[in-house]
Amino acid sequence: MSFKLPELPYGQKDLEPVISAKTIEFHYGKHHQTYVNKLNNLVEGTKFDGATLEKIIKEADGGIFNNGAQVWNHTFYFSSFSPSGGGEPEGDLGHAIEREFGSFDKFKEEFEKAGATLFGSGWVWLVKDSKGALDIVQESNAGNPLRKDLTPILTMDVWEHAYYLDYQNRRPDHLQSLWKIIDWKKVGERL
Ligand code: MN
Repeated sequence: MSFKLPELPYGQKDLEPVISAKTIEFHYGKHHQTYVNKLNNLVEGTKFDGATLEKIIKEADGGIFNNGAQVWNHTFYFSSFSPSGGGEPEGDLGHAIEREFGSFDKFKEEFEKAGATLFGSGWVWLVKDSKGALDIVQESNAGNPLRKDLTPILTMDVWEHAYYLDYQNRRPDHLQSLWKIIDWKKVGERL
């Protein structure tokens, strides 16, 4: 059984102007696809042939970890958006964010800061720990919080390939605009 590029839950142009069709074409169509292809080549004949991505993230190292985590991270990232997204999280997630960060605005500010200050390539995550507490964590390169037994709730990709076509070097502007397309209903189900 080989890994496949999952379908996007929206059309390539549907997230404009926050994420352009051109960026989706490259980020999803080329980068995400390439991680899938490389992973399939790397696992062949290893103990990770037929393994789940979660097992790969927790146990693999080197190229298999890097490509496996990047497949998972991008699938999670792309499934967090909706053309009708934005606004604020409601219900349990909304309450948990208020409890942990003081307010939704304060959470956004901290999350954007963590993304903007992450040196080099990586991912910024909202996670839940085993006691149910929320936290914001930075991960370099392909890093994924599942490896530390944390539950991922939301992520933003801060690799330049995620924003360079639309925002050039303005990573903070890109992160700030992503809130307009977050599908809080779907993200809230991850809590
Ligand atoms: Mn990416």
